[in-house]
Formats: sequence, structure tokens, C-alpha cells
Amino acid sequence: MSKEDYYSLLGVSKEASDDEIKKAYRKMALKYHPDKNPENKAAEEKFKEISEAYDILHDADKRTAYDRYGHAAFESGGGHSRASFHSGNFRNPADIFSEVFGGYDFSDFFKFGDQVRTSHTRASRGSDLIYNLQISLKDAFTGVEKTIKYRRHAQCKACSGTGAEKGTKRVTCPTCGGSGFVSMSQGFFHVQQTCQRCGGFGSILENPCKICGGSGAVVEESKAKIKVPAGICDGAKLRLSGYGEAGQNGGPTGDLYVAVNVAADRLFERRDDDLYCSQKIPFAIAALGGEVEVETIDGKCLLKIPEGTQSGAVLRVKDQGMPHVNGNIRGHQYVRIEIEVPKKLSKDQREALEDFAKSSNVAVNKQVGFFQKLKDKLDEL
Ligand SMILES: [Zn+2]
Ligand SMILES: [Zn+2]
Repeated sequence: MSKEDYYSLLGVSKEASDDEIKKAYRKMALKYHPDKNPENKAAEEKFKEISEAYDILHDADKRTAYDRYGHAAFESGGGHSRASFHSGNFRNPADIFSEVFGGYDFSDFFKFGDQVRTSHTRASRGSDLIYNLQISLKDAFTGVEKTIKYRRHAQCKACSGTGAEKGTKRVTCPTCGGSGFVSMSQGFFHVQQTCQRCGGFGSILENPCKICGGSGAVVEESKAKIKVPAGICDGAKLRLSGYGEAGQNGGPTGDLYVAVNVAADRLFERRDDDLYCSQKIPFAIAALGGEVEVETIDGKCLLKIPEGTQSGAVLRVKDQGMPHVNGNIRGHQYVRIEIEVPKKLSKDQREALEDFAKSSNVAVNKQVGFFQKLKDKLDEL
């Protein structure tokens, strides 16, 4: 079978300029575009041929080769060029068309056939849902199991999600005749749009299910048990596969995401796996050193205070922080020291401090008035 000459295919002379070739291709491409000629095999074939001709003649090197050797220049495996249209020698006609028409994406035209065949049974996955769960820092420390209740669209049991009343089924959409698309002209182009009546499914319900109204899904109160692992961070999301919205036409159910919010704690501030807190200590301990009891996330511990600890000093309690998720290690606890000054002194304490002030060479308020004396007396009683 001999192949038609590229020049005569496009209706141009062998001396035609690049511009003339482009103009000829444009005119013919619009005439033979598959969208303008639905179900027309001959037009589709012609469209492929002119696209191929344009692609060769538009390229200076390829045009020279073609002028010299004819079709043989692009044949692979000897003489079966038409069969090897998509074999790599020639580009997709849809790409060529879209290139010439300024990037307008027409590649969908070549997929319509497939879409129509599958639209009747198009299965889609259900949507994912998100649930916000607030837990305490203590729950985050130990890990916790929670049962959550939420509403979701579940598959309608009455119709098994088909949306059709028992004993009835879907019928071909009368508007689009089952294709799922309707054609309309939009200025220069001929455009196909999704059929409004059937939503592109190509079929409609003869008798919608009375329980779900044809949607195939019903709103349902659902429960899910969720295991929050120890050490979980604020903002972490846990996925419960298959706990989301029901899919359509047998599509899989979506997932449920549980967004964990760890509430602020009265005592501790968390930074990664470490915990920070403040602790007041008597000034004598700060000066002389000693031990104080501090609260930890899961109990109490004794904290050693070195001699001469300053206000604002940060002391570390090893391994008393949060557990690392999926790990055996724990963070540390950091204790910021606040030195407590007594608001009231006994007579002995006052004298001792006055002696201390004297030996430190600092001037202090030593006068003890009548009212102070009276107050001290009352305190002693
Ligand atoms: Zn329709
Ligand atoms: Zn139903």
C-alpha cells in the first residue's frame, strides 16, 4: 500500500514556505479533528495523516530527508509505516495539534472512547474525614485508648450502595444516550461537556432507593476505637483506614484521620521530648545546698540543689521527660529555680539574719518598733 505524498496531503506545493504549511495544516486539522467528527474513522485517519505530514514538513531536517528519500526516510522495519504510527517515529497527533493551536489541550478527545465505556461503572473512593481529639499531657505521656463517635456517610444497606430500589436498576440516560457527555458549540470550537442529567455516568436511576434517595449512602453515627501511642506530639495525625466516607459504585471507603491536640498543662511545658517546669526553693537551700521534692509527669522525685544556686538557674532531672514515640528512651525534665524569700521571720530568724548581714557588711533595717514587738509576742502565743 503506497502512502500519499505529504505535500499533496496538505494541498501545498513542494516549494511551500513553513508558514504556508502551517496554514494548510491548521485549516485541515480543524476540519478533520475527531471532536468535529465523532465516530468517524475516516476523518480520524485523515487527521493522523495530516498531523504526521505537518510534523515532518515543519521540521527543516526531516523535510530535507523526506525530499531526498520520500517516506522511506521514516520507515522502520521496511514498509509498514502506517502501522508504526505510534511506534516512536511519529508523535501523537493530539500533541502536534495542541502545539500548533497554542497549547490548547485537546488530548482528552482521544480518550473519550475509553471514558464512555467505563463511565457506567465508575467506582470512586469515599472521602477522608478528620476528627479533632484533645488529650491531656498525662494521656500523651502514658498513651491512651479512646472511643470516638462521629457521623459519616456509610453505604446504604437497603440498596447496597447502588442507589436503586430493590428489583430496579439503572437505565441509559436519555439526555446523552449513555455517553455521559453532551456536545455543544462554543465559538470556533466544538466542545464536549459532562452530561448534567446523569453527571457523566451515562445512566440514571429508574427508581431511586427510598432509604437513601438514590445517593447510595446514609448518614450514620459511627464509632471508632483509637490507640494513641505514648509520647504523641501535639498536631500528630493518626489514620484509621476504612473509617471515612463510603465509596461510590463499589469504590473503597475513605480513611478517618484523627488529629491529636495535646492540651496545655498546668505544670509542664513541652519542647520535643523534654519537659520544662519552675520550682520555688527556700533561700537557705539555695545558699547552702540541699534537696527538694519536685513533681514529675508521673510522680515526684528528689532534686539535688548545689550550694550557691542562683535564681533562674536551670537544673536537669535526667530521663524524666516524655517518652519518644516508638522508642524506649525518654527526654529530660528541666527545672527552673525560683528562690523564695520568707515573708515573715521569727525573732530568732531575724537575729540570725541580722548577724549574717553584719558579717556580710550590708546595712539592713534593724529597727524593731513597738508594733513589731507586739506582733512577735502574738505570734509566739
Ligand atoms: Zn446523561
Ligand atoms: Zn439506598
